[in-house]
Amino acid sequence: MEKNIETKCVQAGYTPKNGEPRQIPIIQSTTFKYDNSEFMGKLFDLEESGYFYSRLQNPTCDAVAEKICRMEGGEAAVLTGSGQAANFYAIFNICEAGDHFIASSSIYGGTYNLFGVTMKKMGIECTFVDQTLPKEELAKFFRPNTKCLFGETLTNPNVNVLDFEKFASLAHEHGVPFIVDNTFATPINCRPFEFGADIVVHSTTKYMDGHAATIGGVIVDSGNFDWMAHKDKYPGLCTPDESYHGIIYAERFGRKAYITKAVAQLMRDLGSVQSPQNAFYLNLGLESLHVRMPKHCENALKVAKYLRDHEKIAWVKYPGLETDPEHAMAMKYMPNGTTGVLCFGIKGDREDAEKFMDNLKLAFIETHVSDSHTCLLHPASHTHRQMSDEQLKAAGVAPDLIRFSCGLENAEDIIADLEQALALI
Ligand SMILES: *Cc1c(COP(=O)(O)O)cnc(C)c1O
Repeated sequence: MEKNIETKCVQAGYTPKNGEPRQIPIIQSTTFKYDNSEFMGKLFDLEESGYFYSRLQNPTCDAVAEKICRMEGGEAAVLTGSGQAANFYAIFNICEAGDHFIASSSIYGGTYNLFGVTMKKMGIECTFVDQTLPKEELAKFFRPNTKCLFGETLTNPNVNVLDFEKFASLAHEHGVPFIVDNTFATPINCRPFEFGADIVVHSTTKYMDGHAATIGGVIVDSGNFDWMAHKDKYPGLCTPDESYHGIIYAERFGRKAYITKAVAQLMRDLGSVQSPQNAFYLNLGLESLHVRMPKHCENALKVAKYLRDHEKIAWVKYPGLETDPEHAMAMKYMPNGTTGVLCFGIKGDREDAEKFMDNLKLAFIETHVSDSHTCLLHPASHTHRQMSDEQLKAAGVAPDLIRFSCGLENAEDIIADLEQALALI
């Protein structure tokens, strides 16, 4: 019987045999030894499965990838060195120069830059769309060379909720996979495959690690997208790969084709693997993810309610708030809670916002989000500081937006800190 998510957090991916270590061993080895040359040759032809070099696969990393795969309800998964690498490989695995894809414009700034600037230099074009447009409007952005549709479950930093049903049906009606970055919700609160997503990516740096200790990412494939039914669009999966004696991934590996190709080609050629040591830390975080997420959400809801009712606060965005315009959609896809991140604006100008932030004592100003320590960031003064107010608005970031990530401290202490900082402006 399929176990519940809490059990998967603790146990999936690794089961020790008689006398073996209880905790996942860190296999700190670049390479693996074989008794004869023939077996080694078969590994290189992808005819045998086994480890030969940690740039492609490593047992510690595979066990942790398998755990996340099971938590998401997927078919296969691979860890990457960062969330950025996960997003890049997820797209690059099915797109090449001359191809096009569509992404929501309301996504993490790093991903926006990767898609809009760096991938453009590789000849891959991304159209950014307003994810709240009606389906008929969004359909107009598809072209014959469009290869996938991308969005975030809960957008960073705006915490907007993605309408999975709309996006999944759009993608599938155009014969392309729907890729979701599920970082902010985690599989504890949302499992996008249940709502039609084909591929899920995460920055494991955030809640999955959860302690601001290690950078990492993961790509999980549901195995549901039928590449062979769209053969002309995905030559990388559906025509022979000469670097492996003409193997056709979609034929040979079926539902595992996409991840096998990502490992055998992208990891081989580009690297960006997660180290076994980091995978070990990530696994420690995963073991308590189901205990931590409800607490992050509980704290965020309390903070959101406090801020909503405060006279010096101009606005609050938190989809967990009953008064939030996206609350109903959040309940549909995330009935048990959304995330620990929220946004708000304080009345006044950039200077007031800076003064307020400098007054905080418990919440720290950091680039990070989504770990055990409460932290905050003001994009207009930090990550997006080179932009004018007009440019910020065009990028979908309000000039007064403060991104606030609720940690695992006591909610009353977090609120008391906000209270004293607001009293001083
Ligand atoms: C942080 C983040 C990323 C990038 O992940 P890194 O691990 O920092 O490379 C991608 N997507 C989202 C939603 C993020 O929050």
